[in-house]
Amino acid sequence: SQEQLAHAQKMEALGQLTGGIAHDFNNLLQVITASHNSIERLIAQGEGQDIKPALAAIAKASRTASSLINRMLAFSLRQTLLPRQLDPNQLVAGLEELLRRTLGPEIDLELRLGKGVRGVICDPSQLESALLNLSINARDAMPQGGALSITTANRAFSTDELEPGLDAGDYVEIEVRDTGTGMSENILSHAFEPFFTTKRFGRGTGLGLSQVYGFIKQSGGFVRIESAPSEGTRVRVYLPRNDAPAGYADTRREATESCVA
Ligand code: ADP
Repeated sequence: SQEQLAHAQKMEALGQLTGGIAHDFNNLLQVITASHNSIERLIAQGEGQDIKPALAAIAKASRTASSLINRMLAFSLRQTLLPRQLDPNQLVAGLEELLRRTLGPEIDLELRLGKGVRGVICDPSQLESALLNLSINARDAMPQGGALSITTANRAFSTDELEPGLDAGDYVEIEVRDTGTGMSENILSHAFEPFFTTKRFGRGTGLGLSQVYGFIKQSGGFVRIESAPSEGTRVRVYLPRNDAPAGYADTRREATESCVA
């Protein structure tokens, strides 16, 4: 069918893209490794001045590698989702270890799992990525350390509280809140744009919030951000409540393609 053909063409394009990137990436790694080896050799020989060209080669290869990865990320943001019924509290609790390790000892992590939080239907690994992206943003906004809390709760919305196109009713709220630098109005207004980043080269891809926005929207939910300079940031994601029986897979949506707006 037409649909299968489109899918096959897409997979072929994906194969070519990843194959090409893997090849280029490998070349860059060889430049980096070879330059590193020659620096080690020169240092062992006590030749301080001659290391400059090798250092420049390392810096250049690293920059190119980083931009290749950005391109690959942009492509992989167009994901096929595999939604299933899940318990948000269980998912958040399951991330605790990874979060503690990623955030380090300077960040005081607190999980506040609401009582009786309902089920939702979404792709669990995408939700984990979204929460990880938000937590990494929070960490980056607290270079001197601070507090990060992840809170879950049930919330009900009426039509007039929601943007057009969203259904009134029950949602599950997951809030990621930090005590970091916060965002100016200007930064906040661009924060969701793909590739918008205020982080220095190699640190930020500008794709974290795009992933969060695209995925949550596709899952029938929405995102709200409150942030002000020196007041920290609260990002709240909302997913429609859905208490289908455990293990239920929404097959209708398994083939849903996502694409960042
Ligand atoms: P990246 O983290 O790679 O820069 P994002 O799309 O996740 O990309 O974020 C875009 C920008 O939004 C960041 O560079 C930063 O300026 C701002 N931002 C996002 N989250 C926070 C936060 N919790 N606190 C302060 N600024 C933030």
